[in-house]
This record gives sequence, structure tokens and C-alpha cells, in this order.
Amino acid sequence: MRATVIYAAGDVRVEEVPDPVIQQSTDAVVRVLRSCICGSDLWPYGSKSASEGPQRIGHEFLGVVEDVGRDVAGLKAGDVVLAPFVWADNTCDFCREGLQTSCRNGGFWGRDGIDGGQGEAVRVPQAQGTLVRLPVGEDAALLPSLLTLSDVFPTGHHCAATAGVNPRTTVTVIGDGAVGLSAVLAAKRLGAERIILMGRHEVRTDLGREFGATDVIAQRGEEGVERLLELTGGDGTHTVLECVGLKPAIETALAVVRDGGVVSRVGAPQYSEVAMDSGPFMRNITLTGGVAPARAYIDELLPDVLEGTVDPGRVFDRTVKLDEVPEGYRAMAHREALKVLVQ
Ligand SMILES: [Zn+2]
Repeated sequence: MRATVIYAAGDVRVEEVPDPVIQQSTDAVVRVLRSCICGSDLWPYGSKSASEGPQRIGHEFLGVVEDVGRDVAGLKAGDVVLAPFVWADNTCDFCREGLQTSCRNGGFWGRDGIDGGQGEAVRVPQAQGTLVRLPVGEDAALLPSLLTLSDVFPTGHHCAATAGVNPRTTVTVIGDGAVGLSAVLAAKRLGAERIILMGRHEVRTDLGREFGATDVIAQRGEEGVERLLELTGGDGTHTVLECVGLKPAIETALAVVRDGGVVSRVGAPQYSEVAMDSGPFMRNITLTGGVAPARAYIDELLPDVLEGTVDPGRVFDRTVKLDEVPEGYRAMAHREALKVLVQ
């Protein structure tokens, strides 16, 4: 079969790889219907060293079960299934606490000999715990929105949930990428009435408004902070959802959070220190967030996607075929595409 392999920064190829087969009794083999490119895939695309060797890539996919191992219950060939962005047994103590990203028997796609999602098929370890059956057909119009449940929408939701967003909290979302827009949608879904989106790409912030943003701030840095404080009577907002991962974003977050408030971050941090010194201490600021255990939220979010109450698939603004995945990376890296769907 064919699958995406990343060799080095800027060097992504679609090439022939071994067909996946059941290796362990807890495996399933899934034929991929849809996958996509994540903002976090752009980090290796921007910086991977060739000396690390080629690596399979892609951690967001849904597909059709082709085969299951003898210890996999509840799944059969032909089922349409969603894969969250880590695989996990969903039974260990961490999984039961809703932290499948720390599963004692789980791991990441594309690492340690595990297939990546940007390919024709995937061997899924711990299939019973990992895969979520979807009550739709192979050609459902909802597939793009359902695919966002593998990572980007639960990541936005994780950011809002760990920040404690509710109808009484005001919200700032930093970043107008797919995760930031998903965080806007999640905050709105959790009842927030005031959502200020900081982003400067008008097409994206327009979608943010449709997702529920009440205000948009295009300015960055000190200017952006000033503008936000103006809009909030000088106080900032109860919660700040940092969906970028760069140092200026976390600095802005700490500058616009209201005293006693919460900063949650889900942008993979490209910095090593956060200034949680006496300033945030004296203001009783909480810093939370982290990698999102998507599996923990799917049961809650899936009904809203199936009913069409939310339409998170609108973050996809380009669709490519598997052979065109390298062009998809290029388009996302050059910000020509917000998020690329692979069909
Ligand atoms: Zn587990």
C-alpha cells in the first residue's frame, strides 16, 4: 500500500510500504477513508533532521475495519470507525481517569514501527480501546466533521474544559489556526457569551465569528494586549485559551488573563519556560492545559456532530488525494490552507 513518510524538513513523500496485517490479538486493520494534516505535523515538516531517519506520519484518521484480532470485541469488518490521535487500551488507571494520552499500554501513531494515519491503511494496536464506531456510512457528508473528533475539535474542547469555560466566564482565544477556531467553537458550546478571538487572518477570524467569537483583535504583541484590556474594562478575561505554542502567545495570554483567571494552552509549546513568577503568583493565575486526550471527549462531542449542532469540519478549506499530501504540507506551511483534508 501507499503511505506518507517524512524524511526531513520539507521532505514528505508518499511511497510504497508494507501492507498492514494483524500482528497481535488486540490489533485491527483499518482502511483509511479520510485523514488530515495537523498543525503539529508542521513542526517536523519545519525542523526534522534527516539523520533521524524516515518516519511514518499522520495521527488523525477514520476508516473502515477490514480485519480484527481474536481479542477485539465490539468491532467487525465493515464498521466505520474513528481513531483518536493516540492509541490506548482505554482500561488502565490513566485511561479511566480520562487521560488516554498517558495510557500505560498505548502510544503515538507513526512511532516505534506503528503506522501513521496518512496512508491507505493502518494497523491499529489496542483496537478495542482505541477505535470508536461511527453510526454512518462510508460516504457520509459528515465525515469531515467526524474526522475533527480525532484531534482538532477535542483539542479545542480540552483547552476550554481545562480552563473551566462556562456561561459565566469571559474567554480570550489566542490563535486563528484550526485549533484556535475549534477552541472558539468549544467555548461557545460550553455556554461562553463573550469570546474574544486574537488572530490576524481575516478569512479565518470570519469563520471564528461564525463559530461564536464576539470580538476579533487583529493586533499582536503590546498593541493586541492594550486592545483586549480596553475591551474588558482593563481587567482581561477569566479564561485565556492559548492555541499557538509560541513564546509571544503565552506572554500575551498571561498579560490578558484577569486576576484569579486561568490560562490553558494546547499549542505544542515551542518554548521551554513560562514566566510564572511573582507577577502571576500575586494575581492568582492558574496555568493548565496540555496534550488533549481526545478519546476522553469523543462520547460527549459525537452526538452534537451527528445532530449538526456543531460543524467543526468547516476548518477544512482544502482537500487533496493521498498522492498530493506533500502539496498539502506545503500549502499549510505557507498558510495558503488552514487545514488540509486527505481523501
Ligand atoms: Zn490506558
